[in-house]
Amino acid sequence: RTRARHYGIFYDNLVAAMRAELPKTVRFVAGRVSAVEAGPERQRVSIIGQPDVTARLLVLATGMGDILRRDVGIERRFVHQRQSLTFGFNVRPAGASAFKHPALTYYGERVSDGIDYLNFFPAGGVTRANLFVFREHTDPWVKALRDRPRETLIETLPGLLKTFGDFEVIDRVSSWLTDITVAENCKRDGVVLIGDAYQTSCPAAGTGVSRLLTDVERLCMVHVPQWMASPGMAAAKIATFYDDPTKQAMDERGLELANFRRSLTIDTDLRWRARRQVHFSRRRILHEIDKFSPSFAARLRGLKRPQVEAVT
Ligand SMILES: Cc1cc2nc3c(=O)[nH]c(=O)nc-3n(C[C@H](O)[C@H](O)[C@H](O)COP(=O)(O)OP(=O)(O)OC[C@H]3O[C@@H](n4cnc5c(N)ncnc54)[C@H](O)[C@@H]3O)c2cc1C
Repeated sequence: RTRARHYGIFYDNLVAAMRAELPKTVRFVAGRVSAVEAGPERQRVSIIGQPDVTARLLVLATGMGDILRRDVGIERRFVHQRQSLTFGFNVRPAGASAFKHPALTYYGERVSDGIDYLNFFPAGGVTRANLFVFREHTDPWVKALRDRPRETLIETLPGLLKTFGDFEVIDRVSSWLTDITVAENCKRDGVVLIGDAYQTSCPAAGTGVSRLLTDVERLCMVHVPQWMASPGMAAAKIATFYDDPTKQAMDERGLELANFRRSLTIDTDLRWRARRQVHFSRRRILHEIDKFSPSFAARLRGLKRPQVEAVT
């Protein structure tokens, strides 16, 4: 049992709210970018059906499917192809007015399930489910989940109904196949990559947004003011962002956590079997302590743990 606060905001509403806060001095253009050009002085963005935009600096925040970086000669290196599969869908209670818990994280019951965890949480007036899986996308189980999500989940996680209550899936199951990639040759004139456009995130690790916001914070608070203080936008300036130790530490942590979640879920060697036992036994013990002393359990949870386990 945790007492973390859920804000229950969908990404599109979050983005819309942040856009609404942009100062009037910011020129905002919505559109699909078809091409970009970058150089040591001016950058150019071509937008479908709209005039080109030019600027001193181009920040590419185009996510994991990014292809625009190719226009400026930036490649990407695969760290792990087909690292994980993520599914998202909305549910409502079946045969009851509410679920047994407002939010629940349910871990895979057996290593052979390949399920890291299933997260239920309230968002935008419904209960959202995110499911994080380490299986091949060609596995027949994946098709079964898309075609019959409720039945497939109940078969794979037999304890789920008892813990959460019966549910009905009320919309289509969306899915994402994530490759872990890192941009290469990115120290280029005039352009900087942030967030998933620079390094993709395994959704199960839950580090993508913190990494993105770290990039934004480092750019806004440290690098861009320095870059703008002198003429030009040569690669030597841009390099200071990629060499920033705070950014590098966050990116490293994202990769570590991605590996950790995958190994914790599916690795069967002795080391990981033992680690899994320790990880979940610790949670069970804390849960028991929480029942009679929530404050003591919270203190134990706060004790320093190995870095890679800190947010799991
Ligand atoms: C199901 C799921 C659950 C997740 N859960 C978590 C979590 O709990 N915690 C966490 O930290 N992270 C989570 N993540 C990862 C997180 O969503 C990403 O790491 C984060 O959104 C990356 O932000 P970004 O701005 O770099 O890219 P994105 O959020 O992908 O944004 C990129 C944007 O650029 C736009 N774009 C791309 N190309 C063009 C173009 N040519 N023209 C115009 N626009 C373009 C895209 O449409 C998109 O809107 C999850 C991911 C998924 C899929």
